[in-house]
Amino acid sequence: MYLIYLRKSRADGEHESVEEVLAKHYRILQDYAVSKLGGAIPEEYIYREVVSGETIQDRPEMKKILDRIQAEDITGVLVVDPQRLSRGDLSDCGTIIRAFRYTDTLIITPPKTYDLAEKFDRKFFEMELMRGNDYLEYIKEIMNRGRLASVNEGNFIGSVPPFGYDKIKVGKSYTLAPNAEADTVRLMFELWTKEGLGTTTIANRLNALHIRPRKSELWSSASVRDMLRNPVYIGKIRWNWRKTIKKYEDGELISSRPKSKKEDWILVDGKHEPIISEETFNASLAKFGAVPKVKAASGLCNPFAGILRCSCGRPMIYQPQRASAPRLHCAYQMRCGNRSATYAEVEEEVIKALRSLAADLKEMLNGNSAETPKAHKAITANLQKELNALETQQDRLYEFLEQGIYTSEVFVKRNAALAQRRKELQEAIEEAKAMEITDIDYQQRYIALQEAVKVLEDEAASAEEKNRLLRAAVKAITYHRETDIRDKWHPVPFSLEISLF
Ligand SMILES: [Zn+2]
Repeated sequence: MYLIYLRKSRADGEHESVEEVLAKHYRILQDYAVSKLGGAIPEEYIYREVVSGETIQDRPEMKKILDRIQAEDITGVLVVDPQRLSRGDLSDCGTIIRAFRYTDTLIITPPKTYDLAEKFDRKFFEMELMRGNDYLEYIKEIMNRGRLASVNEGNFIGSVPPFGYDKIKVGKSYTLAPNAEADTVRLMFELWTKEGLGTTTIANRLNALHIRPRKSELWSSASVRDMLRNPVYIGKIRWNWRKTIKKYEDGELISSRPKSKKEDWILVDGKHEPIISEETFNASLAKFGAVPKVKAASGLCNPFAGILRCSCGRPMIYQPQRASAPRLHCAYQMRCGNRSATYAEVEEEVIKALRSLAADLKEMLNGNSAETPKAHKAITANLQKELNALETQQDRLYEFLEQGIYTSEVFVKRNAALAQRRKELQEAIEEAKAMEITDIDYQQRYIALQEAVKVLEDEAASAEEKNRLLRAAVKAITYHRETDIRDKWHPVPFSLEISLF
């Protein structure tokens, strides 16, 4: 029995779609099968790769073929040319050659059949694959040059538009247009810069509102952070910020996207409309600047870094001691007059205070009916669904106009009706969400406080972990301890004031 493997490669060019290329190759290979192999290949032996993965790892159909030739007695695999099997990546070539060679499976292309058990065929096959690779590298370089020029003109050339935008075609190039998600973007910046919420809390809140991010199921603190720093929202185009770097790890080609050096960035004015004002964006960046930097080598040692301040307004410094327990003291200790305390006693007081705050919140939450948030959520979800349906209708409207099914008069009329309905829906959604938010707010705060208490009590938790969860729970803690001049052996106890978000 024979298998057919179909895949579009970059060498096929951009003028044909994946489906068109696959259909064309399908006919070539079936013709070959009918005339040379004694009949057409049945559907269950045909594999169509629709994703454009560079490595075997990224190509599910190729993986299936490799499994199948090892599990069943397959005489050969038909492809239009050797490069369809691999783009010449060295490790993949090895995998393919081994798999075909040791299962005695032929690679059949219309001009030539390769039997990899034969030394010469193997050599020839390898050469064919390598040829494919040079060509690919060349194509990539050309494409990259074209892309750079396009970026410099302010076009959007990524494949997935950033959250808040749709990718649209204007003339020959692509740019971005704000969509319904833009409001969520505004909300995120506002929660971050004006209400002072942390990125974890913002992520939790978006998840609770059932707002879906672009590429994954749920928002994470990292994805929120990336958005709050993305200049695309003030109308800029950033390129080269993260280059995909490939490297080998445990025999597999791994792609990673580390942040590039600043001098390699390209930041130009985009053609698209900003969602956020530069003022807000700068405020957002400034807030990132205020977050303490974690030293890679030593690590953060003060769980209260950036949170605990002396009543004189200066930060409290964590000071390890040679012979005794670490202490916290005001950065301006010599002049401010507030005395220091051991870290342990401050932590103990903080835990007590957070516990009692959590208890207060719990009481408040119990007072509210648990059914209301659920009902609000359902309303929002339904409204959102209707809004989505409306967007589809809108698209169709344009199609009808383009195809001449609608006259421009009919189009204008229907378009106005749709716009009116959309406005109504958007207002209703806003309203429903605003009602949801207060309940969720308390719920989130309660969870954040509980998590902070838990991590502070956990002796195995790192200072960084403690710091992160504390930041999510409280805005600031102010410390005060007066110097008692009369009796330095019995100092006055310290007091803490905790402010929540
Ligand atoms: Zn002070």
